[in-house]
Amino acid sequence: MSTHPGITIIGTGFAGLGMAIKLKEAGYHDFVILEKADDLGGTWRDNTYPGCACDVPSHMYSFSYRLNPGWSRMFAPQAEIWDYLRACVDKYDLTPHLRFGKEVVGLEYDDATRDWRVSVAGEETFTTNAVVSGIGALHVPSLPAIPGRESFAGVSFHSAEWDHSVDLTGKRVAVIGTGASAVQFVPQIAGKVSSLHVFQRTPPWIQPKPDFPFSSRARRILGLPGAARALRTSIYWVLETRALGFTVDPRLMKVHEKMALNHLAKQVPDPALRARLTPDYTIGCKRILISNDYYPALGRENVELITDGVREIRENSIVDSTGREIEVDVIIYGTGFKVVEALDEQRIIGRNGVKIQEAWQDGVEAYYGITTAGFPNLFFLLGPNTGLGHNSVVFMIESQVRYVLDCLRLLSRTKARALDVRPEAQRDYNDRLQSRLNHLIWNEGGCDSWYLDEHGVNRTIWPGFTFEYWARTRRLRPEAYELIR
Ligand code: NAP
Repeated sequence: MSTHPGITIIGTGFAGLGMAIKLKEAGYHDFVILEKADDLGGTWRDNTYPGCACDVPSHMYSFSYRLNPGWSRMFAPQAEIWDYLRACVDKYDLTPHLRFGKEVVGLEYDDATRDWRVSVAGEETFTTNAVVSGIGALHVPSLPAIPGRESFAGVSFHSAEWDHSVDLTGKRVAVIGTGASAVQFVPQIAGKVSSLHVFQRTPPWIQPKPDFPFSSRARRILGLPGAARALRTSIYWVLETRALGFTVDPRLMKVHEKMALNHLAKQVPDPALRARLTPDYTIGCKRILISNDYYPALGRENVELITDGVREIRENSIVDSTGREIEVDVIIYGTGFKVVEALDEQRIIGRNGVKIQEAWQDGVEAYYGITTAGFPNLFFLLGPNTGLGHNSVVFMIESQVRYVLDCLRLLSRTKARALDVRPEAQRDYNDRLQSRLNHLIWNEGGCDSWYLDEHGVNRTIWPGFTFEYWARTRRLRPEAYELIR
């Protein structure tokens, strides 16, 4: 790419597209959106496993300025969310800005010109004044380091790379992992396969999924002025009340625990199976899952829950920790994503040649999750400590996009070339954040999760109400930034 775009956005999921839409609205047209794949959509392009759907109600998991009264269900399936993103691209005429097949492999700040040099795989480096990273945290599949995994001679794939060419009908299938993805696809495949062995390391907390289709009449009503907005607002506040237990007092999670235990009791009559499905950590410590069909799927004749762990994978089988060998034709990994390791692989070099890994050697952090000291004009969407356990991340993205626009406006106003968050502002912000997180459920709930880094520090979750984040990012504090001219 030989151009010199003013702004370069990386990624075409909700974050990248949301940024592009608002840039255009604000009158910035000199930007490109780089996408490593050959189509847009991020998570909603990559994850095509059977049953893939959002676990946040769609009227909330969408842009506040682009409501969709036509969602088919309360929790829309993947294909519909992907269509929604495509419709946004058309509506806001983003196609001229999109560049597919452009994998960003390096970003380097030039102290002399105050520009970023962007390296795209197989192409010449180009320069840009600002970079907005919308790559998200959950996109590099994590395959478990189980001895012998490579020796498996059958078919195996990760849930985010579902192999649709494989017909699972009548096959002996193993699923490793019982997280948000597995609870969605296990019920879908359980009726097809001859046998299904579900390897659970830690039981998830599962609540009922308040899902239902919207009738055509309901959709017509939602199309009336104000109706979809009213529904969205009510969903927002219902979800936001869940933050009370997360952010105020973990004891408030008891209500959620009771709801989940009732669900388990109702759906799993067998006490022995129920016992193995009962978590021993506080609800909310890991993501709370919602499903009405996962537990019933585990109760099927051809489905077995294995809680003894995986010792080894052989050519045609899996051996559990008791030494029992189970022959399988297919292994599906529902083992989640590399979150912290993915950052290690990024080649980002900031002021004075400092690598981002050096800047983050004591832990991954940013100011409001958006800017990080030493990396001027580099903006993260859904960056450190802006993930949520209780509401829609699209809400967080919108707050961040608005904040980035404020940064760009500050640059225009002051005629500065770049802005860099002051280390002391970042330190102060993160110290407060961590002292809040210390006694909350993700750190204290008695579980191990990808929310925490190797030192047990929470680098992923926003520990407050989302309206607090919205309010605190509403006004940019120029004094928190050094302006570079
Ligand atoms: P995940 O929630 O991280 O679950 C991974 C599962 O694999 C866990 O059960 C984990 O067990 C297990 N596992 C990992 N390594 C293992 C190993 N070496 N041996 C045995 N088991 C192992 O991953 P995911 O289900 O793909 O979901 C990832 C995230 O994507 C979610 O947390 C959520 O944020 C997002 N997601 C969202 C939706 C949505 O609708 N919005 C849907 C799907 C996913 P442990 O619990 O013991 O670690």
